Amino acid sequence: MKTALLFPTECKLHETRAGHPERAARLDAIEAALRETKLWDAVQHRTAVPAREEELRLCHTPEHIARVRRMAETGGGSFDPDTTVSPASFEAARLACGAALGAVDAVLKGAPGGVHRGECDNAFAVVRPPGHHATAERAMGFCLFNNVAVAARYAQRQYALERVAILDWDVHHGNGTQDIFYEDPSMFFCSVHQSPLYPGSGAASETGRGAGKGTTLNFPLPARSGIAEYAEVWGQAGRALAAFKPQLILVSAGFDAHARDPLGSMNLSASDFAQLAKTTKQWAAQLCEGHLVCVLEGGYDLTGLGQSVAAVVRELANGS
Ligand SMILES: [Zn+2]
Repeated sequence: MKTALLFPTECKLHETRAGHPERAARLDAIEAALRETKLWDAVQHRTAVPAREEELRLCHTPEHIARVRRMAETGGGSFDPDTTVSPASFEAARLACGAALGAVDAVLKGAPGGVHRGECDNAFAVVRPPGHHATAERAMGFCLFNNVAVAARYAQRQYALERVAILDWDVHHGNGTQDIFYEDPSMFFCSVHQSPLYPGSGAASETGRGAGKGTTLNFPLPARSGIAEYAEVWGQAGRALAAFKPQLILVSAGFDAHARDPLGSMNLSASDFAQLAKTTKQWAAQLCEGHLVCVLEGGYDLTGLGQSVAAVVRELANGS
């Protein structure tokens, strides 16, 4: 398998306040883990370019984009106590989003109509700030732009895909992604998350609206759930996914459901994340020529984060 890695180190320039769990050291921990396991040399490194304004507009209002830009240009500020903007944050956030788009290109470029294999089998964009809480017009929960949502829409526009799926295993509900695509039958969104927990949305009864009814799926799980509970609902997600017939699968890959994580209270290990990735990779092989893109979301214990990303990358790069 050829796995693309997009790892824009300039994403580290996005600063948060002292003691904030979403910090530049997260990327250092991931790089160290990938180097230690030699996976760093086993993947195809691809350079990310910042998402352009018109690409951000695929999912965000011009007002929201301008607000983030202005806040950064005037020395920084905050949307809420958790979601801050530093002078470099606009560029870092554009780059994070651009890396997600580059990951889509890695698996779909050279794949006319998205029906043949691209240059890589799958891809992982290791980025910050994360994205899945950002709505079309609002930054929240450490997220400025919704990287995975923009990537999904970009895949539809750039590669003429009709159906794209986003699976979100971050410990928090992907409220922003859900909100952006809630009435859109061309986007399948499934979130498995701890409940109750921030941001409070993601009840099983939230299944989409209007034409999008049925293409949103939520699996709230109680604290202390482990791989048995995850595997059960992931299997249910897979059956719905098969019925949807996606042409590309994106994963909002957060690692804050790791047992060591300070924000989540779940019981997953690095090898459990690898198991979820393996299952997802099998679905991608069966349903969409293996087209699979992971985009980093949360994960705040540096050891758990590094080990888990390495375990998932190893699974993605694993032969056959
Ligand atoms: Zn999270």
